[in-house]
Amino acid sequence: MVHETLPVGMLQCNCSIFGDETTREAMVVDPGDEIDAILQVLAKHGLTVKSIVITHAHIDHIGGAQKLKLATGAPVYMNSADRELQRMMDVQAGWLGMRTPDAVEIDQPAKDGDKLLVGATEVHVLHTPGHTQGSICLWMPSENKLVAGDTLFRDSIGRTDLPGGDERQILRSIHEKLMTLPEETVVVPGHGPNTTIGREKRSNPFLV
Ligand SMILES: [Zn+2]
Repeated sequence: MVHETLPVGMLQCNCSIFGDETTREAMVVDPGDEIDAILQVLAKHGLTVKSIVITHAHIDHIGGAQKLKLATGAPVYMNSADRELQRMMDVQAGWLGMRTPDAVEIDQPAKDGDKLLVGATEVHVLHTPGHTQGSICLWMPSENKLVAGDTLFRDSIGRTDLPGGDERQILRSIHEKLMTLPEETVVVPGHGPNTTIGREKRSNPFLV
């Protein structure tokens, strides 16, 4: 499996590109910005985008989705509980003093328990509300990887002071849905460096 992580945009959101080495089919997670750079990585590996997945509707994660959708024709997946937040894109742009990105139409809901595919590799959708109501994580059991969005970071967890945030809920999501995964699972957070489930279980100050 090809996997490249690109920090994109003003807030350096980690955009993940997964590509199947046989079929050359790809999934792009959180194309927040810098779509030209993302397209370059796809071209370098000879990949065709089959799905665009949004872990949650914050502008730094979804901002470039429409541009990538237009460039690739791939459907966009997002959990329906973040639709309201998506409609507040102009408000979110105002928080950061940036221009409102082009709105993207969501093609498919990403519901808890859904299994998406990158080639033959399964990607399990885990609904982990708390940072936002529609936050999801993507678990790839055969790759030992978890794309965590802004739910879990190395030594931290997602903020819950923005609209739709809920601190008790994010802790419940992390304990029930993430800390139950194998300890060696590599966590690719929405911002900052990778970690593992085991490391966070032992030393994340918000969880111990
Ligand atoms: Zn966020």
